[in-house]
Amino acid sequence: MVLSAPSGGGKTVVRSGLLKLDKRFAFSVTCTTRARRPGEVNGKDYFFVTVDGFGKLRREGKLLEWAKVHGNYYGTPVKSVVDVLRMGRIPVMTIDVKGARSVKRLFPEAVTVFLLPPDLKTLVQRLRGRGEAPENVAVRLETARAEIKVASRFDYLVINDRLPEAIKEVAAIAELETRKTRRNLDKVRAFGEQLVKRA
Ligand code: ADP
Ligand code: 5GP
Repeated sequence: MVLSAPSGGGKTVVRSGLLKLDKRFAFSVTCTTRARRPGEVNGKDYFFVTVDGFGKLRREGKLLEWAKVHGNYYGTPVKSVVDVLRMGRIPVMTIDVKGARSVKRLFPEAVTVFLLPPDLKTLVQRLRGRGEAPENVAVRLETARAEIKVASRFDYLVINDRLPEAIKEVAAIAELETRKTRRNLDKVRAFGEQLVKRA
């Protein structure tokens, strides 16, 4: 499950709400060359790597996708997604719109969700509330103009007005997606085999 949004749109808080709500979800930790913010933990929030280290991961084909966002490199290690899938859990990826596009191209079965605050005023308040400096808010709003343009490519849109509702809506999307027939053909097949054996 891929969550994208303009910066301040609520990816991080919706993700942590999802993980608390249902143990089936697990966060696929990504790597970045940006500096660690106070409170962030290496290996939990991100794998913090150098630009050289990032280049090496990229050349060695260890990244599922990568993008440059606000001047820093970000990428999803293949391993972080595969490990979650092997545990039978749902990987939650909070990545930018370019990354979301790459993932959807590689894995058409991925479910992409675009989060939007109810209005621009709320987005600005949330960015300020998070402690972003005015110049950072301006850069993020400028980037948001381009991000909004590709929102229609996403499978679902969730308005992040009241946080608990937004979390529930994303969880409901995941629940319904797991009910898609094409994701459950093994169960149909197993039942069919039991019928054949009985005959
Ligand atoms: P992103 O990860 O997309 O950049 P965050 O999850 O960091 O966005 O959210 C930006 C800020 O807005 C954070 O301070 C967060 O606590 C706050 N926030 C996000 N969603 C809501 C909401 N529905 N109601 C109130 N505050 C919110
Ligand atoms: P931040 O630095 O604020 O944590 O994240 C900046 C942007 O990079 C956010 O839109 C975030 O979702 C995105 N991002 C984080 N990890 C990845 C990643 O692995 N790949 C891509 N494409 N974007 C990412």
